Amino acid sequence: MAIDTFPVELAWRRHVTPHVLHLAFRRADGTALPFVPGQFLNLHFATEAGGTHRSYSIANPPGPDGLLEIAMSPVPGGLASLALAALQPGDVIEASGPYGRFVLRDEAPCRYVLVGTGTGITPYRAMLPQLQERLAAGFRVQILLGVWRREELLFGDDFRAFADAHEAVEFGACYSREFPAGPEPWEQSGYVQTRFSQLGLDPERDLVYLCGNPAMIDESVEILKAMGFTLKQLRREKYLSARPAG
Ligand SMILES: Cc1cc2nc3c(=O)[nH]c(=O)nc-3n(C[C@H](O)[C@H](O)[C@H](O)COP(=O)(O)OP(=O)(O)OC[C@H]3O[C@@H](n4cnc5c(N)ncnc54)[C@H](O)[C@@H]3O)c2cc1C
Repeated sequence: MAIDTFPVELAWRRHVTPHVLHLAFRRADGTALPFVPGQFLNLHFATEAGGTHRSYSIANPPGPDGLLEIAMSPVPGGLASLALAALQPGDVIEASGPYGRFVLRDEAPCRYVLVGTGTGITPYRAMLPQLQERLAAGFRVQILLGVWRREELLFGDDFRAFADAHEAVEFGACYSREFPAGPEPWEQSGYVQTRFSQLGLDPERDLVYLCGNPAMIDESVEILKAMGFTLKQLRREKYLSARPAG
């Protein structure tokens, strides 16, 4: 079945960390694209072997400006990485979506434990207004982000501001490759999953979201299952790499 694509125009671009490119698109046909925070877009690319696509989580909540932001961590020599890095404001490419079920659902008040590595942090940024609404209904939120080093802490200021503004929100960052001298209380070394034992995780109360690196997600699931979580209490979005074009 043919995929229903639509044109998106690059509105602006900037480096959000030394490594990661933050790109904002808008539908070029002037219509809005309804989406639920946590969903992703497919961006489509022409290749000699035919068309192909790559997926990117939407990094902002839906808003009146109609922007669709993504954060792209370039893979050396990657097809989409090269194409997106070359894209300039005003350029138009094809997109489809939104896709995905990695979203907040109608659930009884619980603690959301939102775990992301690298650009797998971005769906949680899109969820911030929804999370804020749920705090008033008794939800609690633990955000745990994993990156290589402090400079790569993607949207860290947004998450820290959210945690500072709400007593029911906690924020932590884990650095797997380089730990800063003079760390802040919310900074830890190691992989995110090594923090699970310190979070007072409770299958009766917590819903765990895991997004990003597939190895992190697989390892986390094993640890969480051993702590008594069932797969229903774990929501996952793996950033699997695409099959080669053709
Ligand atoms: C649901 C979903 C959401 C995603 N959201 C995002 C997002 O928000 N931001 C983002 O940056 N990416 C995201 N990804 C990954 C993204 O879709 C691409 O796979 C990634 O950008 C690489 O594409 P590419 O065309 O540049 O590389 P490709 O041409 O596909 O790959 C080039 C080479 O790099 C290898 N490779 C691919 N990915 C990686 C990697 N992560 N690490 C190391 N080697 C790799 C491949 O095996 C291949 O050898 C998401 C993936 C999924 C499935």
